[in-house]
Parts: sequence; structure tokens; C-alpha cells
Amino acid sequence: MNKQEQDRRAHLLKMREERLPGIKKNFEELQKRNFNSNFAPGGKDEKLVKKTTKTTKKATKTAAKITKAKAEKPAITEAEKRKVNLSVSTKKGEMVHHQRMLSQDVNAQATQHIIGVPVNKSRYNGYKGAQVTNAQLKSARPDPEAVRVIPIGGLGEFGIGKNMTIIEYKSEIVVVDMGVLFAGDDYPGVNYMIPDIKYLEDNMANVKAILFTHAHLDHIGACRHLLPKFNPLTPIYGTDFTLGMIKKQMSELEDIPELNYCPVDPFKHEQIKVSEHFSVEFIHTLHSIPGNTAIVIRTPNGVIYLSGDWRHEEKPMGIQTDYERIDEIVKKEGITLMLNESTNIDSPGKHPHSEYDVGDNLGKVMDNYASGRIIVSCFSSQIGRIELVLKEAAERGRKVAFSGFSMINNLEVALRSKSIKVPKDTIMKMEDIIKLPDDRVTIVCTGSQGELNAVLNRMVTGAHKYIKIKSTDTIVFSSNPIPGNEPHVVNTVDGLLREGAQVIQNGKNHITNLGPLHLSGHAYYEDHVEFVTRLNPTNYMPYHGEFYMLEHNAEMAENVIGIPRDNIIIADDGDVVELTKDKKIRRNGRISVGNKLYDDADQQVHEAVIKDRIHISREGIFIIVLTLSKKTGRLIKTPDIVSRAFIYLDNSEDLIGKIRHYLRTKTDKSVSTDPELKTLKEEIKEDITHILFDATGHTPIVIPVINKV
Ligand SMILES: [Zn+2]
Ligand SMILES: [Zn+2]
Repeated sequence: MNKQEQDRRAHLLKMREERLPGIKKNFEELQKRNFNSNFAPGGKDEKLVKKTTKTTKKATKTAAKITKAKAEKPAITEAEKRKVNLSVSTKKGEMVHHQRMLSQDVNAQATQHIIGVPVNKSRYNGYKGAQVTNAQLKSARPDPEAVRVIPIGGLGEFGIGKNMTIIEYKSEIVVVDMGVLFAGDDYPGVNYMIPDIKYLEDNMANVKAILFTHAHLDHIGACRHLLPKFNPLTPIYGTDFTLGMIKKQMSELEDIPELNYCPVDPFKHEQIKVSEHFSVEFIHTLHSIPGNTAIVIRTPNGVIYLSGDWRHEEKPMGIQTDYERIDEIVKKEGITLMLNESTNIDSPGKHPHSEYDVGDNLGKVMDNYASGRIIVSCFSSQIGRIELVLKEAAERGRKVAFSGFSMINNLEVALRSKSIKVPKDTIMKMEDIIKLPDDRVTIVCTGSQGELNAVLNRMVTGAHKYIKIKSTDTIVFSSNPIPGNEPHVVNTVDGLLREGAQVIQNGKNHITNLGPLHLSGHAYYEDHVEFVTRLNPTNYMPYHGEFYMLEHNAEMAENVIGIPRDNIIIADDGDVVELTKDKKIRRNGRISVGNKLYDDADQQVHEAVIKDRIHISREGIFIIVLTLSKKTGRLIKTPDIVSRAFIYLDNSEDLIGKIRHYLRTKTDKSVSTDPELKTLKEEIKEDITHILFDATGHTPIVIPVINKV
């Protein structure tokens, strides 16, 4: 450990020690925290209590009605006349219980995103740890002199994405970023979700500018759906590379009017006046994509610093974060509110490596496995990484070809915006490079997340047009699996190993002695400590992270930096955070936020459809088609039965026989009473569900279809 490192650590320890009594006091205060119940009057779930009471009331009423009806009507009702003995051993209550549990599971799986007022009893919630009540929200009056910071997406969600924030003052709105969130396996058939921007749609005329921090999809992925909703004259600011990526995305759409793109050069330190009260400035910061920036917004109530995504490197590729400019703003104006990303707040220490280390190691891979083809898989937006592969390959007389739609798209944008340096005569087309001897072939491709349809997997299965993996190939995973993707990555790695190839994954240095082969694009804990100390903000708001990340980020700000707890807010999407004239922040009210889900054909998927899909995937679907005579009301042919994702009919003769018998009896019994079709369907649905549950323990979606001919 060198002297500088020792000093730094000592300083950090001292900072922590000084705060220890404070931390202890906080903890003690916490014990006394006011834990209000969601179900208490004014609480989040107050309605539920009311609803239950209402239902009970309703139930009593209906019961009264039934008793009344019983007294008036003849002893046997028509419904009773149609009743069939189901000869089942399970009670109906068991089936109802199963259905209720199932629907709870399905709801929990399909609605993990933020709806309504989320539970937030963090001590940084702006209400001293008490859950905000509906009554408080209703009575919230906006402070007309406050600047309003409203996260539309990206806070406290499951997974990272959907980043979008708006800053509002009187009738002026500035929008920052429009990201997507890629849905996990919990959402069958959903590819990604985007923020619901109802609030902006209702206030469209007030939107003065749209700003983008950088071109990762969790910040620009929703452009194709959202940008067309805005007035085409609204200026859209971003760096060349960022705007290039947005334009590429928009060019895939038809009938889009020319949009008002305004490229910014962050090195000019230009203060762009976007409205009467707002001016914005882009600041160059390091991340894992070209053209990355933070944004400073000057407002009547102070300077807001939105960090965007960032990391710190001692020896960066290209130009270092513009610390000089940041220091200047901090010194001359001060940061009144800092929004800081939270992605890697749980990674201890400092970012240990630079991209050059990754480049060196990629070179070593080429040396160690010199006789075969080298296939490097990484994120398609890692332009810096790609530049390093090109450099290392060129130095060894290797050629490089690229594969993957997004990879080639991004490269085009990088070349056009001059965000990448390319050595001469190194890049080749895929169809040409395969004619070279193996020791001269390098391929850079997508698929490092184990995506089924991406290039790497297609090379494994033999579905790729030009490349089939062979045992002399070396495949480098210059990436880490995104949480949730691990099993898919394992699958791809297994496939590669089964072909006899060499696989070198980042983070497994002990196997090959080669690493790191990837760097996270986000700052580690101690990087945050240093950077927040440097910015010395009056108020602090963690963003860009799941709830635990926001919480840990806030704890860092209070316990290590020493920002008073009242000046830190952990908000959720939709919370209105006011920055008041006297430079205080407070949570005050909510706007409506939510998600729109899309499939891989970019078509919107309704939440109800997701619930059906989950239900069917667990329990299946069962369809019965009855053909009744119009004249007699009797069955005129054997009912058709269709079972999908439930039981295999050929193996279920007994059960099918029982159901057919039931349907015959049921329709016979219905002849005399001639019930309405809807009633008959309902009764059949319920009985069949009961019979199926009795036989299988499952309650598929039952659909009776009745034709009268
Ligand atoms: Zn990013
Ligand atoms: Zn991001």
C-alpha cells in the first residue's frame, strides 16, 4: 500500500469514527420510531379495511336477501333443480382457497413494479420514517415557489432501468432521460417496460427541454415510444454519440416528424438557457460508454446536480472526468441538491482497475491462445472495450469482424460521432474473415448475457451463418452477468465447453490467471464517498437503484459524509420532492406513475394478459365446446374437450369420461328450467373447475363454449 493509499484509508476511517456517536444516536432514535400501521385511518391500506367491512355488510345484505327470497319462493329453486352430484371428494372451500392463493401469487408476480403509494418507511423517507398516509397526500399543497424534482422511473424498482426524472418550476418542465427496464422471467412474453408518462402528457405544453445523460438503454431505450408524444419543436439535448444512438432508434420508426436535436459539447461548459427559469450544463464524466455526462440544472432555488451514471478511474481511456469544472461550480455556486446514482453502492472499496488493464488482459489472451480464433463477447455499447480489442488485435496481426445487430449499429454511431479510434486495415466483414487462417481471426460479438437468440448462442447451436464453434476456439466473456441472467450465461458456457472450446470468464482469474476482463461502469462505495465529499451538496437524493441501494447510498451520505438526515430523501417513482426557496427539500404529494409493458415485437402487452399467461403457465387451460339443440336444449353431439398446458388428454380417459357424463346430466337437467346461457356457462365453469381440482389439485382457466343449433 503506498503512502497516498494509506492516507486515504486513514482519512476514511477517521471520517467514520467521528460519525460513530451520531450513528449510535440515530440507531437509538430509530428504536423510538413511530411505526404507524398501513391499515390505520389515513394509512395506505385503510381502504382495504373499509372494503372488507363493506363486503361484510354486503354479505349480510345478500344473506338477508337470500333469506327473504327463500321465504317467498318455492322450496326448490331453478338452480337447485339443475344441480348435478359431482361425486368429488374435495370440498368446494379447498378449491376456493387454492384459487385465492394462486391469484395472490399471480398478482405478486405480475405487479412487482410500483403502483399506488409504495411502502416506504425508510428513515430518509421525508416523514421521519412514518409511512405517508393518503390523507397527507390528499392535503398536500404544492409550494408555488418550490422547484419540484419528480422521479418518473428508476427508483426502488426491481432491477435497474426505466430512468426518467423531471424538474419543474411554475409552468416549466425539463425532462432528463427516458429509459427502459428489461423484464425478467417473471413477466412471460414481456421484453421491456417503459415509464407511464401520463403526468407529462397532461402538461405537455410546459415541457421546455429534454436532456439525455448518455446512451445506455436504461436511459434512452424508451425514446421510440415516448419522444413522438412530445411537441417536435421541443429541443432534445445530448452529446453527439448519445443523440446518434437516439436517432438510430428513431430511424426504425415510420411517420416521425423531424425532431429538434441539439448536440452539446460538454467541454465548452456552456450554460444553455432552456426556459425563463432554467439553464442546463452538461459535464463530461466517465462511465462505460462514449459521450457520457452529468447534468447541472440551475434553478431559482439553487443548483441541482444530476450525476447520471458514472465511475472513477485513475487512468481513464480518453479524457478524465471534468473535475476541474465540477470543483469550479462547487466553489462558485455550491450544489444545493445532488441526485446521485446508487448502482454499485454495495461494492466495497474503490474501482480497482482501468480499461487499459482489461485491454492488456485481452492482449494476453491473444498471446496465450495464439493459434486459434479469439471470440470476445461484450455489451454492444462498450465502444472503449471494442477499441482496445482492435488495438490488441492489430498489434498481433489479427483481423477483427463484428457480429450482432446492436453491435454493428453502435459501431456505426461511434464511427460517425468520432467516438472510436480504429487501426488501419484491421476490421473485416464476417464473410471475409472466415477465409483467413484461425490465428488471424478475432470476432467481437453480442451474447455475453446468454441471450438465446444472440450471436454467441447461435454459434454454439450451429445456427450462425458463418461461425460454428470448434475446439480450437477461445471465447472471452468480457462482461459480468446482469443479476438474473446467471443461469442463461451458464447455459451458454456449458454449450461452448461441450464443443471443446476454451472459455475465459471475467471474475474467474484463478482458472486462467487472466483478469480483469471487464470493468463495471459504476463507481464503488469509496468512490462515492470521495465524490460526494467533493461536491459537498446541501441536500442529497439517491437515485438510479433498487430500494436497498438507495438506502445504502443515503446511509453513506449521512454516516460517512455527514449530510444531516433531514437533508436526505429516499423517494419512489412518482413522489414529488420540493426544493424550497430556503434550500430545503421535502416530499410533498405524488403524481401518477406506472409501467407500460412491451413484447419483442414492440407491441404493448396489457397487465391482464400477463396475469393470464402466468396463470396458464402454472395451471393450464381447459376448453369445453357444447352443441345444444335449439329446440330441445339437449346435447346433440359429444362435447369437444381441449386441454392445453394442463393434462394430456390421451392419458386421462377416466377424467374425461367423468366430465362428459357430468355435461350430459347437466344439460339434461337444464332442459326444463331453460336458464340464460350466461348462467349455464357460469355453473358449468364452476362445476368443471371443481371436478378438475378434485382430480389434479389444479384449477386451470376453464372456458365453456355453448353453441345452439
Ligand atoms: Zn449507463
Ligand atoms: Zn444507468
